[in-house]
Amino acid sequence: MTSGVLRAGEPVLLIDRKSRRYLIDLTEGGEFHTHAGVISHDEIIGEPEGTRLRSGRGTNFLVLRPTQADAVLKMPRGAQVIYPKDSAAILTWADIYPGARVLEAGVGSGALSMALLRAGSVVTGYEYREDFLAVARANVARFCSPEVLQRYHTELRDVYEGIDESDLDRVVLDLPEPWRVVTHSAKALRSGGIFLSYTPSIMQVKRLREALEASPFELHSTVEVLMRGWHVAGEAVRPDHRMVAHTGFLTTSRLCVP
Ligand code: SAH
Repeated sequence: MTSGVLRAGEPVLLIDRKSRRYLIDLTEGGEFHTHAGVISHDEIIGEPEGTRLRSGRGTNFLVLRPTQADAVLKMPRGAQVIYPKDSAAILTWADIYPGARVLEAGVGSGALSMALLRAGSVVTGYEYREDFLAVARANVARFCSPEVLQRYHTELRDVYEGIDESDLDRVVLDLPEPWRVVTHSAKALRSGGIFLSYTPSIMQVKRLREALEASPFELHSTVEVLMRGWHVAGEAVRPDHRMVAHTGFLTTSRLCVP
């Protein structure tokens, strides 16, 4: 995300009065067609963020740069993405910091990559599906600043076969059999390095924890993140009726001297 007026080439979010959200890439001469009429991109280019527009049929739209969470929920997907509530927690529990050398696998749609890169780390991503890797790279290029791409290296490969990098600070996994990456991670991480794995099923957690127990990793921990929105309107102040009840578990461990 940049600041200043909205420019051609940037993605922007249009929000109508019913809170429907549309993500578009601004192009000179471009048009955005909605049920409520047409909006010309040229009306948006050069305006500040937060500007309000009126379409042909009088509907108001609010125009803002997408936050990273907006982008992740709207961007094209190959694989299922890690939700913002979980990527936020991953940054803290994997203790991602500027300059940290991170191995990420699998890369999927690149949502978690975007969070790791935003936090300033240097990411090597392994992904064994070429089509997903293309989606992830396109998403990172579209939503992150060009500087970020210099810290993002991706490789088409199977992480179960091993990790070439050494002296890594962090290993962050989102794939079905993370226990198959424990021994590789113990070799690739520096002592004190952190291993974090996101898994949807508690049976995966059990198997992973058994593998971690039998390894030089210590301080194993598994958590899940529950986020409940609230409805606040006049005297009606209560939790939202609906929430995302389950996504995945976060398991962390630290590599110690064997
Ligand atoms: N965290 C990603 C989504 C990852 S989905 C995001 O936020 O967008 C899981 C991904 O792991 C899939 O793309 C799948 O192809 C990949 N994968 C599964 N097993 C793998 C392996 N052994 N090596 C590399 N990638 C793998």
